[in-house]
Amino acid sequence: MTDTSSAVADKIRCDACPVMCYIKPGAAGACDRYANHDGELVRVDPHIILERTVSHGGRLVPFQAGGDWDGKIVHGPSTIVTAIGAGTTYPDYKPAPFIVSSEVDGVDMVTVVTEGIFSYCGVKVKIDTDRYLGPETATVRAAGEAVGHVTTSEYGSQMLSLGGVHHLTGGSKKEGRVTCDTLMDLSNGKPVELTIDSGATVVVQAGRAPVVNGLTEERMRVGCGSATIGMFAKQWQGKIDEVVVVDDHITGVLSEHQAGKLLDIADTGIKMKGRRSTPGRYFQVAEPGTGWGGTNISDPLAILGPFDPKAARPGLTLLMVSTTGEHAAYYQLDDGLRPVETEMPDALKQSVARIQENCEPALCTVLFMAGAGGSLRAGVTENPVRLTRSVKDALTRVTSGGAPVYVWPGGGITYMVDVTQMPANAFGYVPTPALVAPIEFTLRLSDYAALGGHMEAVRPLSSLKDNAERLPWPRQGPMPGQGG
Ligand code: SF4
Repeated sequence: MTDTSSAVADKIRCDACPVMCYIKPGAAGACDRYANHDGELVRVDPHIILERTVSHGGRLVPFQAGGDWDGKIVHGPSTIVTAIGAGTTYPDYKPAPFIVSSEVDGVDMVTVVTEGIFSYCGVKVKIDTDRYLGPETATVRAAGEAVGHVTTSEYGSQMLSLGGVHHLTGGSKKEGRVTCDTLMDLSNGKPVELTIDSGATVVVQAGRAPVVNGLTEERMRVGCGSATIGMFAKQWQGKIDEVVVVDDHITGVLSEHQAGKLLDIADTGIKMKGRRSTPGRYFQVAEPGTGWGGTNISDPLAILGPFDPKAARPGLTLLMVSTTGEHAAYYQLDDGLRPVETEMPDALKQSVARIQENCEPALCTVLFMAGAGGSLRAGVTENPVRLTRSVKDALTRVTSGGAPVYVWPGGGITYMVDVTQMPANAFGYVPTPALVAPIEFTLRLSDYAALGGHMEAVRPLSSLKDNAERLPWPRQGPMPGQGG
């Protein structure tokens, strides 16, 4: 039961968010998170507590450690009270739903949990692929609505920035709703199809391989074309006259590259299209695309000019390979110094396989990002800025659904969390629209008192035991606060 309600006739008015739903008996509110159960407003989902169990490499601790446990101890870091299912502090004048005392290594601690309502939030998506998804700053759409944009690509990955307050609340009602759905689905680990203006269609799911234009990406590249030349030059020495590693970023050419020079690879008279950066490194050999090495080419010879007869000779051998080893072809020059594709020798097949072996599996990574510097801090302390300072001073640890977060330097409490580190379906929404995400603050009880915490609302873990659902710690690594 929660006190976030008032009754009108047989309906209950929920005040857990600004929508203020009137909820009929037996029905749920607009967000499906609160319901009227026999005249009481209840949070529909169970409150989640995470426990380290033997199967996860930790010690199994009974919830109530025999007899009449006084409830003071949360059993150290083997148990984590999350904010999932806890409810919200809205309208922000009251303490967080659960402020739970604990003892860790003999120190009295307190964990303050709340489900934050975030309209300043979004997800940063890293898609491990060299394939061209769309121009930087291009609009990303879901169900036809603008939900974000393409941002700077990173090493072997394309990046999207989705959501944010402008798409959630600054556009049409439909744009806000679709953006909210997209963020929630991605954060809850569901697949979402995104289309990029003047670019590709990609299916993104946290922890899974991206699907670009219907093709499942298998590997991220071993490196750029230049790096690939450097890594494998020695393995090619003596087996081939020339190697070109095709890459939309930097295409590498063995005989011209410094690695080839140091290994005494002879000039081959090869002529590359594109803009030469430094010896053996070429930019813009083709347009970006979903073909070889993130370019738009399907025939690698398209990036070569005619061989120089002063250095080239009939019979000269050439390997062309992409940065993932997904594409590879072997050629010999004919009497007219034209490359003719022939069967690749086994030794070179092995070098292509080695490139593939060194490519990591392609995955999508979804980081949820939100600003908790606003009013939800009032649920933690009567003097909200002190919580911000306490987080900056590392006196207060922030987690989201029990998962560690990265808190940005600077003002506010702007954090990012890897959604795959959180229990399933940790995110909800309210139709304002905004995302609902769990956030927990853990600090020493003495520090909590010093920053003006709601000491009167501190309660022992035992007071939660009848209503909370206990799940095993979902990861292999240490729980927050366990160290090592
Ligand atoms: S949308 Fe959900 S949280 Fe908001 S008032 Fe309605 S039931 Fe309560």
